[in-house]
Amino acid sequence: MQLKCILNRVQLHRGFVYGTVRWSITRKMRTALDIQIRPRKRSRPVCSGCGKCGPGYDTLPLRRFEFVPLWGIAIFFLYAMRRVDCPDCGIKVERVPWADGKNHLTTTYAWFLAQWAKRLFWKEAAVAFQTSWGNAFLSVKMAVAWGWRIATWKTCCPSALTKLPGRKDINN
Ligand SMILES: [Zn+2]
Repeated sequence: MQLKCILNRVQLHRGFVYGTVRWSITRKMRTALDIQIRPRKRSRPVCSGCGKCGPGYDTLPLRRFEFVPLWGIAIFFLYAMRRVDCPDCGIKVERVPWADGKNHLTTTYAWFLAQWAKRLFWKEAAVAFQTSWGNAFLSVKMAVAWGWRIATWKTCCPSALTKLPGRKDINN
C-alpha cells in the first residue's frame, strides 16, 4: 500500500489531491517525507475571510505544513497557497482544510501533540515526537482556545453546540 493510499484514507481533503512523495532532510538533519498537495483541476479557492469560493488571483511560494510523523519519519505537506480575489473581502489567501491561518502545523498534528501534552510535559512530548517546544506550545494553545470557546458556547448558547462540526467530545 502506498503512502498516498493511507493519506487518502485518513486525511482526505475535498478539492485537493496528493502528488509526488519525496525523501528530504530537515534543517535539523532529520529524515523526512515531503508530500506535494495540489488543488484539483477546476477547483476554486475558498476565501479565508468569508469562507466563500472565489476566483483565483495568484499563487504564493510553496509552504511546508508538518503532519503527524509516521514510523518516526517527519511528514511534511508541501503546498503553494492560492490567493482569492473575493468580491466581499478583496484579495485574501485561501483557506485550506489541513491548517489554520499562518500555522505551519497541520491541525491533525496540533491535536495529536496537544493530546500527548496532556499526558507528558510539553517538552517531553516535543522530544518524543522530535519536534520543537514551540510546536507543542502552539498545539496546547490551540486546544485551550478550543476549550474556552466550547465553555463559552455551553454557557451562552448550548443548542448551537449540536451543530458544531469536528470533535465529538464537546459534551464531556
Ligand atoms: Zn471573502
